[in-house]
Amino acid sequence: MAKPHVLCAYTILLYIISNFVSSIPTKSTTPWKNTSLCSFQYETLHPEIATKLFQDTTSIITASSDFGQLIHEYPSAVFHPSTISDITHLVKSSYTASTPFKIAARGRGHSVRGQAMAKDGVVVEMSSLVNSRIRVCGCEHLGFYVDVGGEDFWIDVLRTTMEYALAPVSWTDYLYLTVGGTLSNAGISGQAFLHGPQISNIIEIDVITGKGDFMTCSKTINSELFYGVLGGLGQFGIITRARIVLQKAPTRVREIRMIYDDFATFTKDQENLISLNHGPDYVEGSLIIKKSPANNWRSSFFSIDDESKINLLACKHGIVYSLEVVKYYDESNIKTIDEELDNMFNGLSFESGYIFMKDVAFVDFLNRVRTEEMKLGSEGFWEINNHPWLNLFFPKSTILDFNQRVLVEIIKKENRSTGPFLIYPMNRKKWDYRTSAVIPDEDDEDIFYTVGLLHSARNVEDSKILNDQNKKILLLCDEIGIKIKQYLPQYYITKEEWRNHFGIKWNAFEEKKAKYDPKRILSPGQNIFFG
Ligand code: FAD
Repeated sequence: MAKPHVLCAYTILLYIISNFVSSIPTKSTTPWKNTSLCSFQYETLHPEIATKLFQDTTSIITASSDFGQLIHEYPSAVFHPSTISDITHLVKSSYTASTPFKIAARGRGHSVRGQAMAKDGVVVEMSSLVNSRIRVCGCEHLGFYVDVGGEDFWIDVLRTTMEYALAPVSWTDYLYLTVGGTLSNAGISGQAFLHGPQISNIIEIDVITGKGDFMTCSKTINSELFYGVLGGLGQFGIITRARIVLQKAPTRVREIRMIYDDFATFTKDQENLISLNHGPDYVEGSLIIKKSPANNWRSSFFSIDDESKINLLACKHGIVYSLEVVKYYDESNIKTIDEELDNMFNGLSFESGYIFMKDVAFVDFLNRVRTEEMKLGSEGFWEINNHPWLNLFFPKSTILDFNQRVLVEIIKKENRSTGPFLIYPMNRKKWDYRTSAVIPDEDDEDIFYTVGLLHSARNVEDSKILNDQNKKILLLCDEIGIKIKQYLPQYYITKEEWRNHFGIKWNAFEEKKAKYDPKRILSPGQNIFFG
């Protein structure tokens, strides 16, 4: 990103003062210029903080856009902190002002519906904290961990820890996301069945609360805030550091895909695999339908011949399912890896002749989506498209209904988007119920599923159609009793809907908001607390 030009403290203070004292709105063609800074209590802003607030076009446009490209909310200013204490001062300035202003931390802005935006408030560009703060620590006896900044990208965490032959255990499919951004949600991928989401693998965090207090928290110190922030959608504090569990990293992986024409068999095999001792290290799955072929922007795993063969099968059945399994290995089990895989796949019921294998370096496997992204290159597929994604969790007991009513009768039949469409199981016991993350209520079911409908739309009309389809799916699930929970929630408008989403966690969530961000300053783009 181009560095914004720095306005000197004097200019910005003059600007703030002039806006503060003037009630005459300035006429401008740029929409954010119509929002004045008068809500800023300039007298509470330290001059040094004021120099780090920007209103240049690049800063404002960036902060009012995200990966979804579906909505744009303009902040009054964008804050480029150099240090953690800059952020503390900013939050404190808002908290102590007679009219507090909203503040949103922005990681990479890879949300899809404005979750990191702050209408008329201040967006904190976490990427301005440029000095890498990634430090690997620990010992064989007590275990290893890495301290990282909330602004750090997971790819940088991976690269640094690999220098020590260590790595975190739980990932997202794409690594160009920030630690603070994914920990505010949960952070899931094919390793979550085994290790839990990323938020299950955090030892300690530093947080700046909505009062501007800097607090270190863990399972034993300030534990209420610790669990609240993990999966807390940015509502209680800005994460400035996370201490993440590390394990010995493998060097290579075997990546295997198996194709199924029957959904019940596909999910039964997924569930068998995740229940094995010494089984796979990663399990996901996806749909292959006419418009969403075997290879896509998320993965070009298959050779041209294999892809044609699979797409033909998909044409014949209308829909087929791809089970994705990965087994890690290194020098210690290089001789037995084939045997381990044979044992693991014994008894699986994929289509005969439809098993495909690749052998790749561990880092390349984890960074696979970026590799695909780079292939798209200057065509700018990601930038020019809107992304009306829908990510859901739903109970295992309803997967057959979900497949028939949603995947077959809506996604396949309407055939509106190229996806990809992901579906894979999770182990409930790997999720810590004390975190703010929300999963299906069915306590008696060990397994629940996640589905990711990762749509791209070329234009506003297509985007609207897909958005309507998402709403139709949510409504249908409600009507036929599939008790879904939205992951990366975005379709709730009323307090009642948020209350339903959080279920038994709602009261505690609301109480924590009152305690740690009583003036409702933080992460307004999530639209949970109004006013
Ligand atoms: P942003 O979009 O910048 O912020 C998200 C929210 O977190 C906002 O409310 C923001 O205010 C808050 N926030 C940001 N930084 C902090 C901080 N330091 N402290 C407190 N709050 C903060 N998710 C998965 O779980 N698994 C996946 O495999 C996965 N793959 C993805 C692939 C792509 C291509 C994309 C676009 C998204 C994917 N996601 C996935 C979703 C992603 O994890 C979330 O959208 C995440 O929030 C994005 O991180 P970010 O750094 O861009 O956060």
